Amino acid sequence: MENEDILVYRLGASCDLADIEEQKYYIGKVQGFANFGMFVQLNDRIKGLVHKSNIKAEHKERDTILVKVRQIRPNGNIDLEEVQIQVYQVQNIEKKSTTVRIVDLGTKIGKTVAIEGEVAQIKQTSGPTIFTIVDESGTQNVAAFIEAGVRAYPEIELNDIVKVIGEVMKRNNQLQIEADAITKLSADDAIQVRVRIEKALDIRSEPEDIPLLVKSEVLEHLRPEMKKVAKIIRKAIFTAQPIIIRHHADADGICSAVAIEQAVVSLIKESGADFDADYYLFKRAPSKAPFYEIEDITRDLDFSLKDHVRFGQKMPLVVLTDNGSTEEDEPSYKIASVYDIPFVVIDHHHPDKTIDKYLVAHVNPYHVGGDFGITAGMLGTEVARLINPKVEPIIRHLPAVAGVGDRSEAPERALYLALVRDQYSEDICKYIALALDYEQFWLRFNDGREIIKEILNISGNSARHTKLVALLVEGANAMIEDQLSACMPHVVTRELKNGAKLFLLDVEIHAHKFTFPPPGKTSGEVHDRLCKEYEGSPVVTIGFGPDFAVLRSRGVLMNIPRMVRELHVEIPGGGISGGGHLVVGSIKFVEGMRDTVLEALINKISEAQVQK
Ligand code: MN
Repeated sequence: MENEDILVYRLGASCDLADIEEQKYYIGKVQGFANFGMFVQLNDRIKGLVHKSNIKAEHKERDTILVKVRQIRPNGNIDLEEVQIQVYQVQNIEKKSTTVRIVDLGTKIGKTVAIEGEVAQIKQTSGPTIFTIVDESGTQNVAAFIEAGVRAYPEIELNDIVKVIGEVMKRNNQLQIEADAITKLSADDAIQVRVRIEKALDIRSEPEDIPLLVKSEVLEHLRPEMKKVAKIIRKAIFTAQPIIIRHHADADGICSAVAIEQAVVSLIKESGADFDADYYLFKRAPSKAPFYEIEDITRDLDFSLKDHVRFGQKMPLVVLTDNGSTEEDEPSYKIASVYDIPFVVIDHHHPDKTIDKYLVAHVNPYHVGGDFGITAGMLGTEVARLINPKVEPIIRHLPAVAGVGDRSEAPERALYLALVRDQYSEDICKYIALALDYEQFWLRFNDGREIIKEILNISGNSARHTKLVALLVEGANAMIEDQLSACMPHVVTRELKNGAKLFLLDVEIHAHKFTFPPPGKTSGEVHDRLCKEYEGSPVVTIGFGPDFAVLRSRGVLMNIPRMVRELHVEIPGGGISGGGHLVVGSIKFVEGMRDTVLEALINKISEAQVQK
């Protein structure tokens, strides 16, 4: 009679390690034999070993037998013992281990839990293999160990949906799960989990509805697209997808990119699995050219592919700012599309429609009737606030710096300046913008993450910020003075038939080379002086070298990208390309055609309308 009370369990198909207990009896099926015993499956996913000393009868494969669980080892292996019981009751076990959401793991330290999620990274260390798992609530590192430096669970791949069972530990102040078992979910279960995670992530990635920093109709119209960009960036962060932000290497581009950098880095730190995730999941890099050139995509692709192979990282999301809106970027987009790299663009250069097919989202004031006066730094800062509103206090002055840096004449410039007037006067914003340009010249291709934060007074040491900016401004002004005293006497003047004054400067032979200010900025400084000197008149300044020219204008209604396109057609063999803003831009050509190209260009300028 006593035996009738013995319970034997039958494991349901979805049960896993967490559902079995030591010393209890289970129905199993013989799976195969080894020298040291036989393997018995308790369901499709769980099998244990009956050592030969614990086998009670002869069996063949697929025999049903009864076993007792003697021990579950720390590595997840199960020791079984065959039992022979004549009378017993069978009880079905359905999955009782409910999975824990990653965000709740902090309350489970020391406990064994199950989590389900997507594998976002697989990194082999000299010790364990580290799997980064993403669920709807967060990101968690899981350490799995078989042997030092050997890849654990080689069947688990990037982007698989898995179930992890293991103990929650605290290491170096960070949560980690030490895996007892990692199993790939069945196709049906995986779809369910993927849908669940995707839905929840979609809601979690939705930016908060916060008002803009300033009242602006153009910005208000851009808000839906800015929210879209912010959502894409937030989702990349929550799914441990690396983010690369590329920007024009001037004060406006830097302000835009740094605002987004602050939002992204702080959000990675809040939700990332590793203390240094903000370094390997985020990269900011200036583009030397005023567009995303092939050299840039080549570097980005090179690094991303290496990180993918070496550290099991996903391919990145690329964010372009103060760059990316024009057809000059198209060759790079074509290369990136081979690897399905998603792009978002935040720019204020006159956009070409042809590039939209390469972009997931595109914020540009021209799309809603605005123009370049809404600078990239203004746009980037508003997007950054949508990504993570908490960073607002440290970035709210960046639009003002960007506005003066890019010489915006839009009403928004004054609004952003008014916003921070107490701490940053217009002059201080100008100093900071100049310091950024000057420092970027010395940084060359580097982002200078921490130095730039100091210049922008983000690092929290205001005294050092003030000292550094003063020193940089002094250095920049001295070099500008030096450059201008050399080149101003060589400026050639012409009166155009539309009444505009044209100033020509050969920066190749009448300015210092390979130094600060470079040709573009030199021409800009010359232009600024001449504008002051000829207050009230329309002014165009052309600084040219053997195979390029830089244009600045005031009061002349030019369209530089269109003039460049026309010249390209009208002068065969001119090798003409270029672009930029409508009234500030650059043009390239072949050296032997310089005089022809410049004359044709001047001709077009003399036909443009002037503002009275
Ligand atoms: Mn700009």
